[in-house]
Amino acid sequence: MRHITVIGGGFAGLTAAITAAEAGAKVTVYEAHRTLGGRARTAPGPYRTNEGPHAVYSGGPHWTWLRQRDLLGPLAPLPPLEAARLRLRHHGVLRRTPPFAMLKLLRPRLGPAPVDTDFLSWATGIAGEEGARAAAHYAAVALFHHAPGSLSAAFVQERLRRAAKLPPEAHYPRGGWGVLIDRMAARAWNMGVRIETGARVDTLPEHTPVVVATALPAARRLLRDDSLTWPGGRTVLVDLAVRTRRGDAFAVSDLDAPGWIERFTAQDPSLAPAGEQLVQGQFPVGPGESRADGVARAEHLLDLGFPGWRERLTWRREAVADGRTGAVDLPGRSWRDRPAVDRGDGVYLVGDQVAAPGVLAEVSFTSAVTAVSLILGRPALSRMRA
Ligand SMILES: Cc1cc2nc3c(=O)[nH]c(=O)nc-3n(C[C@H](O)[C@H](O)[C@H](O)COP(=O)(O)OP(=O)(O)OC[C@H]3O[C@@H](n4cnc5c(N)ncnc54)[C@H](O)[C@@H]3O)c2cc1C
Repeated sequence: MRHITVIGGGFAGLTAAITAAEAGAKVTVYEAHRTLGGRARTAPGPYRTNEGPHAVYSGGPHWTWLRQRDLLGPLAPLPPLEAARLRLRHHGVLRRTPPFAMLKLLRPRLGPAPVDTDFLSWATGIAGEEGARAAAHYAAVALFHHAPGSLSAAFVQERLRRAAKLPPEAHYPRGGWGVLIDRMAARAWNMGVRIETGARVDTLPEHTPVVVATALPAARRLLRDDSLTWPGGRTVLVDLAVRTRRGDAFAVSDLDAPGWIERFTAQDPSLAPAGEQLVQGQFPVGPGESRADGVARAEHLLDLGFPGWRERLTWRREAVADGRTGAVDLPGRSWRDRPAVDRGDGVYLVGDQVAAPGVLAEVSFTSAVTAVSLILGRPALSRMRA
């Protein structure tokens, strides 16, 4: 029986642990925090916030894998009435439908966008500059980047398509992502995985294959490898609760600048006390911008979509997520160019900024399955990730 060590008990580490245990390996997971989940943790309450707006996209390989194992748990469906309350800010006002030019970029017949060109240049040729900018800003919901139009066209196109798909790909585990993590941890335990929390690893263990399932900066320190870098987004997170008022937007996407705000209690009332609504937003900021700049943009969108929110406010919190929202690919680069999963000498690197396909947490998932299939040489696992 192979013994595999996993460092990090977030979504990637737990995926690796379960995959390896299912294939018959003996697995130990070391997690630095007292609780598992990493960036997929959910606050205990009374406001059950994920770290920023979080959705499980049903088009990814993790969706099927989680479903097959009954790990997704009950989902919180978005009532049709609430779905109709999605608003788009364009030219300073809220509208219900996207600008026509933006839709040109969502035509099924449109072929794959090039890797080498930036999204704005490529999309402007199809939809004009205004349509291209609106589309780039809409895609920011899954990009978390202040200048989404400057990224690789192929990279942004995938996220745009996934974020704009109908019926929507975004789904919400009832009770937040923490419930999903709890179910994954229970599955790992039941399969005999040894999980040690409050156990920070500072030196790589020898003699067993090691899956390093930490975020890239921690992996850089652990592996003493300064080459482990990749660009990511920087975004201001604004979480708040307001007293319920009929007619509030479900979500507001800013098409004039990157930014997204969503009322998560629209689909899952259990996330806030009765009579209150939990709203979470993310507003990407550039290198020269501050947290206050992001907050100001959030407040402007709140004024439009949630009238009277200041008087109804019951709770509020802000943070900056810097490099915590996964990889972004610049023109000329794709996921294949990111830090490789196989580091040699039995060390494997997984997470959302490594060389694996997918959107956001899917990259963590796919890289984790890849690492375990490389360790165990199991073609069945390789087929699953293909
Ligand atoms: C604001 C925001 C919004 C997001 N929205 C979405 C979304 O809508 N959909 C989506 O799919 N994804 C989303 N994501 C991304 C998703 O949260 C991450 O891709 C995923 O949680 C990353 O999981 P991971 O296991 O790779 O890394 P992490 O969650 O960072 O886990 C790494 C773990 O390793 C531990 N660790 C670090 N160093 C050590 C050490 N030395 N020893 C032991 N343990 C260590 C950490 O404590 C942590 O628990 C979002 C992220 C953010 C921040």
